[in-house]
Amino acid sequence: MLSPELLALIFLTLWGACVGSFLNVVIYRVPAGLSVIHPPSRCPGCEQKLALYDNVPVLGWLWLRGKCRTCKMKISPQYPLIEAFTALCFLGLTAAYYFTDLRPAFATLGVAGSWPALAVHLVLLSAMIAATVIDAKLFIIPLGVTWIAALVAFIVMPLAAGAGWVPDSVSDTSTQWEELAPWVSPEWLGVPLGAGLGLVLAVLLLNLGVIPQSFADEPELPEGADPNDPEHFFLHPHPRREISKELLFLALPVVGAGAGYAAVQALVAGPLPGPGGADEASVRAWLSGTDRVPGWLLAFGGVLLGFLVGAAVVWFTRILGTLMFGKEAMGLGDVHLMAAVGAVIGWRDVTLAFFVAPFLGLLGTALIAGVGAFKKGGMRPIPYGPYLCAGTVIVMLLRVPIYRVLFAGGA
Ligand SMILES: [Zn+2]
Repeated sequence: MLSPELLALIFLTLWGACVGSFLNVVIYRVPAGLSVIHPPSRCPGCEQKLALYDNVPVLGWLWLRGKCRTCKMKISPQYPLIEAFTALCFLGLTAAYYFTDLRPAFATLGVAGSWPALAVHLVLLSAMIAATVIDAKLFIIPLGVTWIAALVAFIVMPLAAGAGWVPDSVSDTSTQWEELAPWVSPEWLGVPLGAGLGLVLAVLLLNLGVIPQSFADEPELPEGADPNDPEHFFLHPHPRREISKELLFLALPVVGAGAGYAAVQALVAGPLPGPGGADEASVRAWLSGTDRVPGWLLAFGGVLLGFLVGAAVVWFTRILGTLMFGKEAMGLGDVHLMAAVGAVIGWRDVTLAFFVAPFLGLLGTALIAGVGAFKKGGMRPIPYGPYLCAGTVIVMLLRVPIYRVLFAGGA
């Protein structure tokens, strides 16, 4: 008799291969601005539509021997490789969550009790595979890829919490709940909600043209410079000026966070009809009751907080780096990527992932330098997105041992 976890493992590995097949379409079409749904897969050489049996992940490529059935054009081995890699990633994550003690909450609750979190994690994993391949090839991260992962977290986590998936009393099992899904305590709920409102307002003002778009205007040339000189043609001459526009944008969410925090503090300190009257501790306890602040709202706040913190750590580094070195540091694609990661794994884990990434970056740079492909002073920086993704996977798998080392048994 197979356990539900073993059945899930087998099903998700096969499912991963199919997801990989879809990711191939995403990797090929999204950066080109094409639809991922229409038209169906066809040979780029002869426009011949692929037969269903040729579309079977990995096997299709193998029995076609890597060539189009009609025109014999070579099909890149990237297709079966990404399908196999995605299947392996799905297998590895599911095995680690349910068959090891790396993620105790998942292993304890089983697939039946944790499937919404697993589903969101697998969506993030898929988005990161697509983002990594696209970033490595083209030095961009299509925002749609990251938005999908964030959107799924914003919908599934509150829905699951509202459907009673949250343990009866969140405060009793908050550690377990936090390991499963982002969550915010009622006293802090004002921070993500206020910052989120500020962000929505900032995006609105940006689209209305009230807040200027950074790195968007025509580059101004220094006096006497040759406009055809590649140095001036490709490099924006005023990164420090441009980044200050982003500070204007960021001021709104920051003010919103402060206002949200103050509002909840005023609410807690005020004469609320709590069980203990004016006693602050009992008012806090009253506020924490799940019937006062519904579980879906705490889950929504947790996802939002993770989204904001994930974006903030990258953006802060981007601004600091740009001001210090006078050269655009870290792309906005990385900001969106870590926002999506934070929405799925929460504000603590996304911060940890951000600090794991540079170590992987050093390792990767050293490896590339060793191979000899690293060109110093090249026109384009080595993309950071793949390292952020790798850091995220490491935290998803090893968060418990990492926190144990960092806080010596705490968290
Ligand atoms: Zn063909």
